[in-house]
Amino acid sequence: MQFKDLGLDNRLLKTLNHYDFRKPTDIQKQAVPVVIAGKDLLASSKTGSGKTLAFVLPMLHKALKSKAFSAKDPRAVILAPTRELAKQVYGELRSMLAGLSYEATLILGGENFNDQVKALRRYPKFIVATPGRLADHLEHRSLFLDGLDTLILDEADRMLDLGFAPELRRIHKAAKHRRRQTLMFSATLDHAEVNDIASEMLNAPKRIAIGVSNEEHKDINQRFYLCDHLDHKEAILERVLEEAEYRQLIIFTATRDDTERLCAKLNEKKLKAVALSGNLNQTQRNTIMSQFERAVFKILVTTDVASRGLDIANVTHVINFDMPKHTEEYVHRVGRTGRAGNKGDAISLVGPKDWASFKRIETYLQQDLTFSVLEGLKGKFKGIKPRKPDLRGKKADATKVKGRKKPVQKKKPVKRDKSFHQNVAVGDAVFVPKKKVAPKVDDE
Ligand code: ADP
Ligand code: MG
Repeated sequence: MQFKDLGLDNRLLKTLNHYDFRKPTDIQKQAVPVVIAGKDLLASSKTGSGKTLAFVLPMLHKALKSKAFSAKDPRAVILAPTRELAKQVYGELRSMLAGLSYEATLILGGENFNDQVKALRRYPKFIVATPGRLADHLEHRSLFLDGLDTLILDEADRMLDLGFAPELRRIHKAAKHRRRQTLMFSATLDHAEVNDIASEMLNAPKRIAIGVSNEEHKDINQRFYLCDHLDHKEAILERVLEEAEYRQLIIFTATRDDTERLCAKLNEKKLKAVALSGNLNQTQRNTIMSQFERAVFKILVTTDVASRGLDIANVTHVINFDMPKHTEEYVHRVGRTGRAGNKGDAISLVGPKDWASFKRIETYLQQDLTFSVLEGLKGKFKGIKPRKPDLRGKKADATKVKGRKKPVQKKKPVKRDKSFHQNVAVGDAVFVPKKKVAPKVDDE
């Protein structure tokens, strides 16, 4: 199947041809006709499978083929959870707008509000935005969405994880045209909160799921190492970096402070690394991303602020220095490599503090994950056995163990590794349960 078989406007076909996109990917084949037919859509397919064009192409096709609901309001809004991802989607949209006379604008948190007001006064037809700032413009009445015909939520589940449900609802309320179409995309759309918001925002949506979110990604080779403590993690990381033939590499840590600390250590070792986290200002974030994209720095040390959506051509390796607390983030982090048919390696370091997250990920992936060992770097940690239920003082339960040996209650003194406790900075961020609202500063 070719792009032209999807019935896309000739101007779009020409641009696709110019960029040498030859055939639609599976998600594009399935999503484009549904969107062109005007249906709401909940779509998932694996990381790197071309979801962006799956919504950008039919969105533009509709704009080319049909009359706008209003002269001034934007025709489509695309929302993304992080500024970096919104910027990337905007870039892809701009490429596809080549030769068309539409205005588009990017509305991000952390950037000058008044400049954005000015840009909105030019009545752009397409807006890519992070949800917090877009909702601010609605409140400020610098933007109206009454005439919006398409609302697109990229990485919808992550926006909910970050606590943007109120902003999404506000945007949904403002975009009140009865024929508005709404699309949600992600590689992981299977948790309950998504269903709740989808049932509010989408109208009889069509569902497309190509593969399941926890399906093994054939292009990503996963490896896991057990680690005793921080020094051990660093030794393993050093060896991995020595041995891996990486072009570009992303290291994920648990907290923002860890990105800086680890990055400084790598730089001491003369490895060209740069740290990105949500507490930097926007200019710094832009500079860092641009330096990494241009491979001025080959290593990016970051948090989950960069786990979603980013498409950087030469990322051959992803390293989880700490395991992610949100299970789905594992799928997204490793999905920064192995994109668009390329191969990639994902290496995860699992210490005592990562164990609970690791087990949750193992259950989620429904795979038996095995551990590799590096010569001379075998540690002592072998995982944490699940605790036996405490049966003391429970008469009813005690009868059940009748005949069995009484569980040994004597406590052995626990051997503690001092170096580990001195270095608890890594991997010990408090786990934030999904329902709770995480601080927005990281991404907005
Ligand atoms: P996803 O959102 O599914 O993670 P992206 O939309 O970021 O994936 O696309 C991943 C990569 O695949 C990008 O570099 C994109 O340019 C490329 N790509 C998208 N569609 C096609 C296609 N039809 N043929 C070849 N490459 C494509
Ligand atoms: Mg994407």
